[in-house]
Amino acid sequence: MTTQPDSTEQEPVNDRLDDHLEMLRDPADKLLRAALAQGGFRLAVQCERCGTWLVAPSSVKRHLGPVCARHAQSEAGVA
Ligand SMILES: [Zn+2]
Repeated sequence: MTTQPDSTEQEPVNDRLDDHLEMLRDPADKLLRAALAQGGFRLAVQCERCGTWLVAPSSVKRHLGPVCARHAQSEAGVA
């Protein structure tokens, strides 16, 4: 194995992408979401694969439930 200064390490790409998207999110959206949460409301999106309503923040961001996200990931790896 050669030692290169810019050798790329394997990193959890999805987590980093999520963080990046969170930074780009409109501050007004964050305020709205906080206000909704205080009122007892939660954002929900439907899973793109199975249509289940998702409320977990990480699932909402992906528009995929944890199970379907794993399926999608393995399918992407195979294809
Ligand atoms: Zn699903």
